[in-house]
Amino acid sequence: MLSLIYLIGSVTFIVGLKMLSNPATARKGNAIAAGGMALAILGTIFLYRHNGHGLHNYGWIITGLVVGGVIGLISARRVKMTAMPEMVSLFNGMGGACAALISVVEFEYMAGTLADIPNVHGQLGIIFAGMIIGAVSFAGSVIAWGKLNGRIRDISFQGQHIVNLSVLAVIMLLTLFVTVTLPSATVALFATVLVLSLVYGIFFVLPIGGADMPVVISLLNSFTGVAAACGGFLYNNPVMLTGGILVGSAGTILTILMCKAMNRSLKNVLIGAFGGAKAGGVTREQGAYKEIGLSDTAVVMAYAHKVMIVPGYGLAVAQAQHACHELETLLEARGVEVRYAIHPVAGRMPGHMNVLLAEADVPYDKLLEMEQANGQFNTTDVVLILGANDVVNPAAKSDPSSPIYGMPILEVENARSVIVNKRSMKPGYAGIENDLFFQPKTSMLFGDAKQVLQQLVAEIVNSL
Ligand code: NDP
Repeated sequence: MLSLIYLIGSVTFIVGLKMLSNPATARKGNAIAAGGMALAILGTIFLYRHNGHGLHNYGWIITGLVVGGVIGLISARRVKMTAMPEMVSLFNGMGGACAALISVVEFEYMAGTLADIPNVHGQLGIIFAGMIIGAVSFAGSVIAWGKLNGRIRDISFQGQHIVNLSVLAVIMLLTLFVTVTLPSATVALFATVLVLSLVYGIFFVLPIGGADMPVVISLLNSFTGVAAACGGFLYNNPVMLTGGILVGSAGTILTILMCKAMNRSLKNVLIGAFGGAKAGGVTREQGAYKEIGLSDTAVVMAYAHKVMIVPGYGLAVAQAQHACHELETLLEARGVEVRYAIHPVAGRMPGHMNVLLAEADVPYDKLLEMEQANGQFNTTDVVLILGANDVVNPAAKSDPSSPIYGMPILEVENARSVIVNKRSMKPGYAGIENDLFFQPKTSMLFGDAKQVLQQLVAEIVNSL
């Protein structure tokens, strides 16, 4: 029965993950995978048998489940969309800690009788691997969480990468020494490796540019998956193994995709200090920019044939998705064709804009991926940029010295006119100026995205 439950659990993870790749099925996919996980947990609690005995510490288990479940539920309900990477990081850290604790418990269980355990070297290897990867993921995720909410700043010093590599080398050597030779001081060495792994996790994430955290979190997420898979090996538990491998590989693929979409190597993300305290942008004399008022914007948009909206991080900050949908519906009712151009790394997490717009019930078929949108800008009358900056910066194509050079961007300058809404002339995530704002086709519409959109809607309704 338990084997069957584990099989069902594994299948739900795979099906759920597949469904997550499409916004229309994502919610259901998440629920299916969560259902499979709940089934696997309940099956383990009530049906697991070891030497004919079931579990006995139900009080602890149920208390843990209830406390963890309530904390998870409340924080997931309360979290703001822009704070999502922070929460993912913290939850991921908890997963890493769980995987490391499994290794600690299993090690303690084995420690006194190492010599009598069959295949002891292999078992110890898996225990050490789970502990090291889990501890690195836990410590790194907590630092990432602190950086994202501003509690911890980027800290780096000369030769930090050499120190990091040395710590890693000591961890590897000690692990090899213990698992191969089974010395008498195994417990002390295990504790040393645990502490060093926590230190490594902290040192690994500390110097990385604060704004690169979403990529790092995705990487740490894949670490947690691998650590959980080690637990699956240890317990010969297929559902833990499948779940761990899926998280590990999905996290790795996501990390690669994010790096690709920013046209940066993982190495550059890890040691580039990009977008952090040291974010270097060339600030040069850009000339004058043109401003546009609300009523002019309303006229230009209401009488256009085709409008393309480019949402960015600022739209999420302003929580302006509902106002944006309202403007879109209003324009469509007047016969204007409205589409959204979605850049793969707009916002601060993968799929950020899709999630945001889905929240406001914007139909999926109005969302164009970057390549599709780029093919349509030359037939677009007005591009309305809402709190986006880097993803429309032409320096990515024209300035080899720019930190975003080579990143594919939305080529909005091919449209007839461009209106940019943001609050000031301040740069975005990459910390660099944007030539687009100074081009003759571009007009700046300053203000908070939500207020501006609400006023635009009122202007169109009342005056046109
Ligand atoms: P940017 O961070 O480049 O720009 C956002 C702009 O929004 C700012 O210039 C800001 O200008 C404006 N803004 C902020 N608040 C508001 C508001 N309330 N109303 C109106 N405007 C506002 O965002 P993009 O989405 O263009 O680019 C995303 C960046 O994040 C890329 O560089 C990408 O590489 C990076 N990134 C993305 C990840 C992802 O997975 N999506 C992960 C990691 C990094 P002002 O202050 O003047 O208002």
